[in-house]
Amino acid sequence: MVIKNVELETVCGITSRLPENEKPEIAFAGKSNVGKSSLINALMNRKSLARISATPGKTQTINFYNINQELYLVDLPGYGYAKVSEKEKIAWGKMIERYLHESKQLRAVFLLIDIRHDPSANDKMMYEWILNQGYQPVIIATKLDKIKKSQIQKQLKVLRQGLGLVNGTTIIPFSAQTKQGRDEIWQFVDREVFG
Ligand code: GDP
Repeated sequence: MVIKNVELETVCGITSRLPENEKPEIAFAGKSNVGKSSLINALMNRKSLARISATPGKTQTINFYNINQELYLVDLPGYGYAKVSEKEKIAWGKMIERYLHESKQLRAVFLLIDIRHDPSANDKMMYEWILNQGYQPVIIATKLDKIKKSQIQKQLKVLRQGLGLVNGTTIIPFSAQTKQGRDEIWQFVDREVFG
């Protein structure tokens, strides 16, 4: 994908109406601090259009990035941030579910998991929601540069087993630092969206 122009077109809060876009959408889910903003910036070749924060849990909106007037990258709110009230957590959860349920243009969902950690209960819940809405997510194992090469296969297995991934699920290891995995993600999107 050659990125010609990128625009943060729509930002939705908990009570906002979701946009009825006419172009395909690709969504990204993951717990806060997993590296979602860094990934989206890397995909768009931008340094800081998606907010990268030292304090996790800041993205409480659904952000729609228009890419080349051809498709949207959809940044879903990061979940699992401890400092947020139970009420807010439930509201975000509902918002994510509503988006997955209502979007008519959603073609693929990526679920981001830190390659270093066992998937959390929230990660499993997110995975189940996505499956229940009829999508089989591609897993992006983030922060690949943080582990030794010799640990990669072992960690991918932990991830596969921890989430209980259905057979045939694609996992793409990714590093925002080296950009390893970036081309593979775009290739997947190209195939999924433009056949
Ligand atoms: P988000 O909350 O999921 O959007 O996560 P961010 O993209 O804001 O990243 C959270 C923190 O992890 C930031 O300090 C990033 O610089 C760091 N980070 C994100 N991706 C990577 C990566 O691939 N490698 C390394 N080493 N750090 C990363």
